[in-house]
Amino acid sequence: MGIFSKIKKAWYDTIVWEMIDEEFYETLEENLIMADLGAGAAADAVKRLREVVYDKSIQNGEGVKQALRDILEEKLTVGSTALDLSTKPSVVLVIGVNGVGKTTSIGKLADRLRRKEKKRVLLCAADTFRAAAGDQLEIWADRAKCEIVRSKEGADPGAVLFDALSAAKARGVDVVLCDTAGRLHNKANLMAELGKLRKIIDREAPDAAKETLLVLDATTGQNGLQQAKVFKEIAGLTGIILTKLDGTAKGGICVAIAQELGVPVKYVGLGEGIDDLEPFDAKEFLKNFI
Ligand code: GDP
Repeated sequence: MGIFSKIKKAWYDTIVWEMIDEEFYETLEENLIMADLGAGAAADAVKRLREVVYDKSIQNGEGVKQALRDILEEKLTVGSTALDLSTKPSVVLVIGVNGVGKTTSIGKLADRLRRKEKKRVLLCAADTFRAAAGDQLEIWADRAKCEIVRSKEGADPGAVLFDALSAAKARGVDVVLCDTAGRLHNKANLMAELGKLRKIIDREAPDAAKETLLVLDATTGQNGLQQAKVFKEIAGLTGIILTKLDGTAKGGICVAIAQELGVPVKYVGLGEGIDDLEPFDAKEFLKNFI
């Protein structure tokens, strides 16, 4: 799993893993908090690590690291990380504020589903607030060699989704990836907008497998997490795409998301290229994080 090696371990530069004393545990807890694990999860992880180290008489650095990986793996496991694409078509709504990497992630995901899972993918440009959003998505549709349905700036997003679903059914598309506007100013707006889109899916593709993925920028740390809580409350998320994990030493945010949202990270973005998206794998992540 190549791209997980871009995850940074710099968060524990000052920790001496071979010196397992009181100071070690205190420094570890501080560093885990700095790495955005969240205070509660950091305290709990260190408490359990003390117990395991004592019970198993662990005395070497690698043993301690593995014990910590096992503890965090349990915390990261909060549900299936696979996308439900069991129907034809399946519909994936992708939400998130501007700048987090939503368009890029949709493009990477489309490419991945087409090449690796042999899916026929159609992009739906339902972010009609900005002309640029549709243009950018079209560029990604070209790169990922998949179809796109778009309309003019200011068009009704619901009408674009309606067209996309009709096209998907007519053409035998496997997966519709639907971009949505990231700039709705308040909760009520966002809820109304997503409600409209969901109604169209329920009417036009009532039996379709549905996913609602939130795109989160890992470099925004705990602020991003607060944002995610609002989205979860109003949108009912089935998964997270965590982007820009290559640009931060604060990878602990993966654990904070699982613990505080209870929603699985399904994909991680580790770069700007088309291949820089991988399904989340807790073991691979932890091997590169610790
Ligand atoms: P959107 O406004 O949410 O649609 O964001 P874009 O998809 O346009 O992405 C915003 C910027 O983030 C672009 O410069 C992307 O290349 C960059 N970006 C997206 N995902 C990643 C990632 O996983 N890693 C890095 N380093 N950059 C990313």
